[in-house]
Amino acid sequence: MHSHIYDVIVIGAGGMGSATAYHLAKSGARVLVLEQFNRGHTFGSSHGETRIIRFFYDKPFYTELMKTAYTEWRSLESESDKQLLFITGSINLGTKGNKYMKAVSESLNEAGVNYAWWDKKELTKRFPQFFVPDHYDILWQKDTGFLYASECVLTHLELSERHGAIVREKTQVNRIEWQTDVPTIRTEKEQYLGRKVVVTAGAWTSSLLSKLDLPLTVTKQQVCYFKPTNTEMFRPNNYPVFTENTADDEFIYGIPYFGKNGARVARHGLGKTFLPDMCEREPDADYDKHINAFVKERIPSLGKVTHSEVCLYTETPDEDFIIDTHPDCPNVLIAAGFSGHGFKFCSLVGRIMCELALNDRTDFDISPFCIKRKVCLE
Ligand SMILES: Cc1cc2nc3c(=O)[nH]c(=O)nc-3n(C[C@H](O)[C@H](O)[C@H](O)COP(=O)(O)OP(=O)(O)OC[C@H]3O[C@@H](n4cnc5c(N)ncnc54)[C@H](O)[C@@H]3O)c2cc1C
Repeated sequence: MHSHIYDVIVIGAGGMGSATAYHLAKSGARVLVLEQFNRGHTFGSSHGETRIIRFFYDKPFYTELMKTAYTEWRSLESESDKQLLFITGSINLGTKGNKYMKAVSESLNEAGVNYAWWDKKELTKRFPQFFVPDHYDILWQKDTGFLYASECVLTHLELSERHGAIVREKTQVNRIEWQTDVPTIRTEKEQYLGRKVVVTAGAWTSSLLSKLDLPLTVTKQQVCYFKPTNTEMFRPNNYPVFTENTADDEFIYGIPYFGKNGARVARHGLGKTFLPDMCEREPDADYDKHINAFVKERIPSLGKVTHSEVCLYTETPDEDFIIDTHPDCPNVLIAAGFSGHGFKFCSLVGRIMCELALNDRTDFDISPFCIKRKVCLE
């Protein structure tokens, strides 16, 4: 059977695949996107209404890359004529002198991004919703906000189609073969040829590239929503994104009231390990209790959890992404292991994957994300 040859085939239409398809199609490439479920499905990592976007990171290379990621989101907004990015500012909370916040301030300094240390009095004046202990460090950063996540994915896909991409839903890729210069993609019924293949398969990356033995762990994550009595007090104009490094070494974050779900509070990391198709989809009641206890102390006027959702993280050992060429085939590119903090980078990762696919290179520093970095070989 002779198949039509695409310039690039993108496997997976989540956050990363949709952005990659958009950049490729906009550059004039003939693009095919294959997605095993329907667009906007809720089984992977990119569904839900909100994802935090921020400069603050304890690793400076992320802060630096975020400068372009913000610009790319803004240009997606202007091309689509939709608001996708909502700026609220953020507060990081943590015990005085904690290492994470010190590293965050160093990254921001290095990248020339402004921030301020607040005292408790300033916090209470600006955001009376929060009750923090006297000995806390409080770091304010004005550029933080959130992305309207599910809409970002749909918008990237819509625009990629407008630029000529073909998006096939309910089409699961079973195998990638590269005996010739042009890799073949096999699904149950069809085969497709692409000069380049970009694998953006999220939690399913390890099963699709099983021979590679990538160090990826898929974990169940839960997010809790609150519908406080005073809704206005928690809307994006009146309430910031927050994170807290708790005394028990947890990382808890919150996002303002947006859309139909309410204000979000969740714990980053710490999830049970699963194969993606076997993951429990039921929220865990103990987790809700834990978040309720935190909220009661820190933000009591939020009230209690009204409902929770489950989502997947695909984690690398060092929580840094994998963005690289397949070690056995230069025509297969991989973007995976976004470790629960990748969404804000979709707009940039899409551009990087496009550059790698069409030009075999990118000027962005992706060296921290190479497959063979030390941690992945251990
Ligand atoms: C609860 C939660 C909160 C988060 N909060 C934030 C945040 O605040 N800020 C932030 O920046 N990031 C956040 N993240 C992380 C971010 O959402 C993810 O890093 C990002 O969405 C990963 O996108 P992806 O495209 O790699 O994966 P996905 O969106 O899961 O996409 C992979 C796609 O590939 C498809 N696929 C897989 N295998 C195949 C196959 N064989 N054939 C065809 N299709 C296939 C899947 O169906 C899926 O649609 C959060 C994640 C979760 C779960």
